[in-house]
Amino acid sequence: MSEAFVHCRGVTKRFGETTAVNDVSLEVERGQTLALLGPSGCGKTTLLRLISGLERPDAGTISIDGVQVSGDGKYVAPEKRRVGMVFQDYALFPHLSVRDNIAFGMSGGGRNERVDRLLAGTGLTGLGSRMPQELSGGQQQRVALARSLAAGPRVMLLDEPFSNLDPELRHRLREAGRAILESLQLTAIFVSHDQEEALSLSGRLAIMMNGRIEQVGAPSQVYNHPATRAVASFLGDANFLPGEFRDGRLQFELGSVTAKSDLSGAVEVMVRPERLRLDGDTGIPVEVVHSDYFGHDQLATVRLPSGDVVKVRLQPGRNFEIGSRTSLSLAGDVVLFPA
Ligand code: ATP
Repeated sequence: MSEAFVHCRGVTKRFGETTAVNDVSLEVERGQTLALLGPSGCGKTTLLRLISGLERPDAGTISIDGVQVSGDGKYVAPEKRRVGMVFQDYALFPHLSVRDNIAFGMSGGGRNERVDRLLAGTGLTGLGSRMPQELSGGQQQRVALARSLAAGPRVMLLDEPFSNLDPELRHRLREAGRAILESLQLTAIFVSHDQEEALSLSGRLAIMMNGRIEQVGAPSQVYNHPATRAVASFLGDANFLPGEFRDGRLQFELGSVTAKSDLSGAVEVMVRPERLRLDGDTGIPVEVVHSDYFGHDQLATVRLPSGDVVKVRLQPGRNFEIGSRTSLSLAGDVVLFPA
């Protein structure tokens, strides 16, 4: 029987009246990177702190590599769990050089060589003798990563590690972080507010809301087949329209199409903006009421004959004046939820 490397079973953590983590069960396989994404205050940080041992659960158990570390009266101290943590405010020791910061938690021989390897692995070769205040934010963040890797963790927990950085640096560090985790085959859980980051960086994605895990799966699975309306509207852009579904056929304002669902009768139809097309040969008449330009693409808001508005992701190079009239058609799958 293969057991998950990190395994939370029915974990609950309360702070007074607040249930920060509510009956969470989560499995992360060895070597896997799981992204934990959810709105502010949904319990992400608390869940990481429970796994690291900085918090004790009120109910449930946590095991790492088959050994129970929390729950049922068991409690293994954080320093014995071999869990590495990198947080947004990477507190480096200001009076120690980069090299000494990294070597701080190391024991045993070959320290210099191990520090060199970590410097190289995090792209910091040549900076070992600098002091933390002589580094950029991104470099400091890499020192923090190297320092937590130096202790030989079995699991890495990263809490919004890149959120203080500008987008360009963030992107580079994200790639570097992924390469490091992959090369060391470390099991990692990282918390993010940033949807693109979570979708692109992780092998698996868990969506957390109100202290609960709403859905876990491959990023594309969660995006394309959201389990609940809440997940659909949280992750990416989503349009919701009323419809009727019977015997495999959906009727709604955009037409009559086949769809898959166990539901019957009145439904709510979720359509992603990139599954809609403007200005095709067929379609229903719409008016463009708004447009958001993002550089790499553009999101138009159009009004349907019913008065409902939907967002449409435009093809590169397409442009529609506000107030212009065109046609809208469906160009992909929809997801149905109970009305
Ligand atoms: P964010 O994305 O904003 O960092 P989060 O998803 O990480 O949020 P947590 O920090 O885990 O959320 O907080 C979950 C809930 O628990 C929040 O309502 C928070 O106010 C509460 N909470 C967290 N830590 C404590 C604490 N030590 N004492 C009291 N309440 C707490």
